Amino acid sequence: MTKKIRIAIQKSGRLQEQSVKLLKECGLSFSNGPNRLKASCYSFPAEILFLRDDDIPQYVEDGVADVGIVGENVYIEKQKEISVIEKLDFSKCRLSIAIPREKEYGGPQSLNGKKIATSYPNIVRQYLKEQNIEADIHEISGSVEIAPGIGLAEAIVDIVSTGSTLLSNGLKEVETVMKSEAILVSTKTLDPEIQLLLEKLIFRIKAVNTAKN
Ligand code: ATP
Ligand code: ZN
Repeated sequence: MTKKIRIAIQKSGRLQEQSVKLLKECGLSFSNGPNRLKASCYSFPAEILFLRDDDIPQYVEDGVADVGIVGENVYIEKQKEISVIEKLDFSKCRLSIAIPREKEYGGPQSLNGKKIATSYPNIVRQYLKEQNIEADIHEISGSVEIAPGIGLAEAIVDIVSTGSTLLSNGLKEVETVMKSEAILVSTKTLDPEIQLLLEKLIFRIKAVNTAKN
């Protein structure tokens, strides 16, 4: 029996549609109903696993999936032993610092002694260290943008694309911590047969993305 490459993609959310679209453009056809966890491809020896994006780096590190599609932000935050194979040119966004609109911003140093709410504690810790800032990180898993309004934090670090969520929560973006886009990640050491399948897949991804640009 020929081996199949196991590809993990987001089950639902901002990466899902484009991940499916890219794989289909690469000639991997599969059906993805809303409650499916797994799908086999008809036209390529691959199996698609539908997972929470935040769990994908762990699954890839553990080798439960051979490759996965995640945001660079999640890849950096999770600090797993996995390799970045290819940037995919979608789900572009940035992780930014935002503060209440009416507050004056005095540069990164003005965050000294402040509370910062975020879902990305590792990335924020690293940024603060680089900038030589001592601040309190409050990790929250969702709705980070409401933290300043309810007195939980003086600033937030969160994903921004257009800025409209910040605006509607009375916040303004003052600093970019990192830029992000969807990336293909893989297990550090792959089975040689799977490696060949991955090379085929990368070749197709490159062809698809070159045709777009
Ligand atoms: P959950 O896991 O709870 O569903 P999440 O924030 O992790 O929520 P999404 O909102 O689906 O999941 O975001 C998935 C990824 O898509 C993010 O990690 C980021 O890389 C990217 N992303 C998030 N928001 C945007 C956006 N507004 N524009 C473009 N890309 C985004
Ligand atoms: Zn997520």
